[in-house]
Order: sequence, then C-alpha cells, then structure tokens
Amino acid sequence: AGWSLSCRRNVSSSPSRLQSCMPGWVIDQYGTNGVLTYTEDIPVPTVNSPSDVMIKVYAASLNPLDIAMRGGYGATLLKLKRHPMSVLGSDYGSEFPLILGRDVSGVVVDCGSEVTHVAPGDEVWAAVPPWKQGSLAEFVTLTEYEVSHKPKSVSHAEAASIPYVANTALSALVNAGGLCRDSSSNKRVLITGGSGGVGTFSIQLLKAWGAHVTVTCSQNAEGLVRGLGADEVVDYTAEDASEQLEMMEKFDVVLDNVGGETEQLALGLLKPWSGAKYVTLVTPLLLNTDSMGLLNGMCQAGSSLQSKAIQNIISGGVFYRWGFYAPDGPALDDVSRLVDAGKILPVVEAQFPFTQVPQAFQKLEQGHARGKTVVRVT
Ligand code: NDP
Repeated sequence: AGWSLSCRRNVSSSPSRLQSCMPGWVIDQYGTNGVLTYTEDIPVPTVNSPSDVMIKVYAASLNPLDIAMRGGYGATLLKLKRHPMSVLGSDYGSEFPLILGRDVSGVVVDCGSEVTHVAPGDEVWAAVPPWKQGSLAEFVTLTEYEVSHKPKSVSHAEAASIPYVANTALSALVNAGGLCRDSSSNKRVLITGGSGGVGTFSIQLLKAWGAHVTVTCSQNAEGLVRGLGADEVVDYTAEDASEQLEMMEKFDVVLDNVGGETEQLALGLLKPWSGAKYVTLVTPLLLNTDSMGLLNGMCQAGSSLQSKAIQNIISGGVFYRWGFYAPDGPALDDVSRLVDAGKILPVVEAQFPFTQVPQAFQKLEQGHARGKTVVRVT
C-alpha cells in the first residue's frame, strides 16, 4: 500500500473509504521499546491491486521477530523485498513509519476486483509477511493468497495466536522436513524449544498427523507440552538432558527452535543414512545481510549452509536444512479445519489491550514464552 505524508478524514461513505487515517503503533527509527509510538494519523492501506484484501484487525499477536525487527534486524534484506530498486544503492524510499505485528485475525472490509476466495464481511486470519506493513493497526492489506478463513470455533484473540507460527512450522516441516499429513504416522520427530509459539503449534500439528513427538523444554513447561500431545519430554536444564536424548531411539526429523549448541547435539540424534532431516529455524541469513551487506551476507550465509549440508551428509548421512516462514493462505485453510475439529488448540499465554502494545513487547522480551502473546486491537 502506498504511504502519503498527509491524511484526510471522512472523505467518502464506502467501508474502506470512510476514513483515510487509522490508529496504530509505528516505529520511526530502530531501537528499544521507546521507539514504539501510538498515532492516529497512519494513512489507511486501501486496496490498490486486483488481488488485494483489506482487513479490519480485531486481534494481532507478537513473535520474537517483532522484537528483533524493532531493533533493525533484517532491515537490509527486507528493504530489498519492499523496494527492489534499493539494490542499486540509491534511496528508494524509507520503511518508516513501520508497523510491526505479523498475525491478524479480523474481518474483510474491501477486496480487489479479482478476489474470489473471500468477500467483505468474511472473518479471516493471516500471517503478514515481514516485508509488508504489520497488523498493529486498525487495518492491514494483504493479497488474497496470504489470507484464509478464520476458524469459527475460536475468538479473534485466540485465532491471532496461530497464523505466523503455523505458516512457519508448515514451511519448515513440509518443505524442509519432507513431512506431510499422509506420511507422518511412522515418523519420530524431535522438537527443541517445544514450549514457545512455534513449538506448541508444531506438537499439535504433528500429533494430528500421527507422528511420534519428543519435545525439549524447561521442567515447568512439561505439563503444557504433554497436554498438547507430546509423547516424550526432556527437561533441557537437567544435567543429563543430552544423555536422555542420546538413549532414545533415533529421530527421522528434528525441528530446532533453539539453535546454538543445540544444533550439534540434535544432528547426532538423527537416524543415519535413512533420509533423516535436521531443520533449524535459527539461521544467520538476515544477521549476515545486516552486518555484511546484501551480496556478501547472502554469499556468507549460502556458503555456511552449503558446507554444513555437505559435512552432515558425508559424516552422518543426514540432511541439514534451514526453515523459514513462508506466506501460504491455502495452508492456513487446512489449519483452520484442524482448529475447528479440536485437533489444534490456540495456546495464548497473555493478552494485552491495544493501548498496551509496549507492555506486550516487554512481556515477549522477557523470554520463556509458553505459547503466544496476543494484542486485542478492536
Ligand atoms: P518463542 O520465544 O515463542 O519460544 C522459544 C521457547 O524456547 C521458549 O518457550 C523457551 O522457554 C524455550 N527455550 C529456550 N531455550 C531453550 C533450550 N535451550 N532448549 C529448549 N527450549 C528452550 O519462539 P518461537 O517459538 O516463536 O520461535 C522459535 C525460534 O524460531 C526463535 O528463535 C525465532 O526467532 C525463530 N523463528 C524463525 C523463523 C524463520 O523464518 N526462520 C520464523 C519463526 C520463528 P524457556 O526459556 O523458559 O525454556
């Protein structure tokens, strides 16, 4: 959506044109929580292309990415995605004022002429790609492909806890991990960091697909992850956590939400020479492009991925892969059905009103998530 410097109010009577400014939380520079600013003067992101869907936001949720993006994480690569001409080095527009917030549950207020899947009045949910303006505002505009019908059995606040972690988990488990609904019933999967947003969703998805799921988490999260269906749980803070994991039957897939030292341990837990896959969500790609620039950063990340992939296939007979969030509305349609069937429950740890977005960021920044932090926007 285009951003102009000035706003006019009440210019027309159709739903999307009732107002040209909206309230929301923006940042005008990168930094700590103090950069979050509430304003009522954000230009409304109206429908600009035939595939656009404009959504009134009822609830949003926060992800670790929001904290990171507030501080400038990913700025180099995301700028290229927003303004492809910026690769030439010229100043092709600024990302500010930037709206954070990657999840939305809300109601469609306007659609482009080619939109067929949803219509004004429909209740929808979506994960907002990081290169687009986020959901911590009254309206957000996405393309039809990114939007899906919200599950009917849960509230907007509950629904908003799911899309970004769902699109991430599905992309990681399916595209990188090679799993799917019909091929998971005889698979052993290890999820590290199972108590967070991605973990609590992934446990439930994999159990719905019939996989055997082992989880690492802190001791006080064991009840939570068992309640979501985890078959075996290892307290990673226990002295013998590595030994406990090494004693277990080897795994077909590891979904690593932790990274760091966990990576080496987890790679050794996979079945050798049987197509087993290690998928980590903790990748250096955006850090590299931020610190080294686009070209050097991408080359560095690519060569690090390639050397780890080769090393692990030669030495252990296992695939080493990076997982990434990918926008996918149709995949959310499947998740919506699983939620309505009671197979996936929203795990909402904390809710904040729209006036307390900085407090919601503070909560997330403390770490130790047990599911998701949600912001009620309307
Ligand atoms: P959360 O912050 O919601 O959850 C992280 C969880 O891990 C917390 O419950 C934390 O609880 C637990 N944890 C921390 N350290 C360990 C450890 N050593 N072993 C086991 N558990 C641990 O994060 P998300 O689930 O939303 O995301 C997980 C990771 O994936 C993040 O690093 C995120 O940035 C990344 N991510 C990457 C994406 C991509 O596109 N590549 C997309 C989405 C997420 P406690 O500290 O109490 O144990």
